[in-house]
Amino acid sequence: MKYFDNILQTIGHTPLVKLHKVTSDLPCTVLAKVEFFNPGNSIKDRMAIKMVEVAEQQGYLKPGGTIIEGTSGNTGMGLALAAVIKGYKCIFTTTDKQSKEKIDILKAVGAEVIVCPTNVEPDDPKSYYSVAKRLAKEIPNSFYVNQYDNLANRDAHYEQTGPEIWEQTGGKITHLVVATGTGGTVTGTGKYLKEQNSAVQVWAIDSYGSLLKKFHDTGKIDMSEVYPYITEGIGEDFVPANYDMSVIDLFEKVTDKDGAVMARRIAKEEGIFVGYSAGSAIAGLKQLKHLLKPTDVVVVVFHDHGSRYVGKVYNDQWMMERGFLDVRSVKDIVSGRG
Ligand code: PMP
Repeated sequence: MKYFDNILQTIGHTPLVKLHKVTSDLPCTVLAKVEFFNPGNSIKDRMAIKMVEVAEQQGYLKPGGTIIEGTSGNTGMGLALAAVIKGYKCIFTTTDKQSKEKIDILKAVGAEVIVCPTNVEPDDPKSYYSVAKRLAKEIPNSFYVNQYDNLANRDAHYEQTGPEIWEQTGGKITHLVVATGTGGTVTGTGKYLKEQNSAVQVWAIDSYGSLLKKFHDTGKIDMSEVYPYITEGIGEDFVPANYDMSVIDLFEKVTDKDGAVMARRIAKEEGIFVGYSAGSAIAGLKQLKHLLKPTDVVVVVFHDHGSRYVGKVYNDQWMMERGFLDVRSVKDIVSGRG
């Protein structure tokens, strides 16, 4: 018999899949590291387990303990899976702008979710961030994960994602492209690959409305770069401790529209039903086409699954309301011309 003892053991060893149509204008080979094959449907399972294991080793998390994090998304899913199998409680704080589905998904895997108001400053006692911190202080035997500054996040990618890509490409990778948020994926994976071959180029994809690219390029925190944007999971209004900016050769910004439109194209043209940030990653790579040559082997990380975005990127009405989908193309589809 061949089986895994529990679901956590199925994390990692995700496939690398060649792209054909959406990157047909690029001269090189483009391979997607499809991370929705993880049990929580995202790359964040890797770092969630790692952060829990390190907390156990360091004595922050003891049997029967409570995991606390401010999250509504992929990290919460990974932490919740770890909590189920390892016998911890999970409490997540989130904001009232998150969809009910996201909250229900976390509850489905046993987490308690506390919904906090969106329109308050981070240091307001009612913010999801402050509530998570306060709960961690008040609840005995609890551990506040803090994925932004917890360096086990980037270590997970140094230990797993990097070696997998190196091995899967037989060391032939020339470029790594990663849409970036906490910085864990790009820093950990990029550092490992550069240690194997210092010529590997690491390109990070940021969102308009985020200060990360400007910080990388100038070393300065420029708050004038920061404004609301729609793309989920990437970009920040501060620089998390997981970044080592020296690992990143180039930062490229992508608009909300270009990321969303490209995610839909990846689903339709490659049959890979990806999340929003995978669209941003490919859109960003295509903006950098002039830097690529035929012998290049580019690996792009696809962070999560499209099912999380059915009410958004994959909903025509949502796309039209934001000017991401032109009305004529929908009419064409309805009339059978599209
Ligand atoms: N895409 C999605 C969908 C994510 O959830 C995240 C995590 N915030 C990222 C990209 C960026 O990954 P990282 O936090 O490792 O930079």
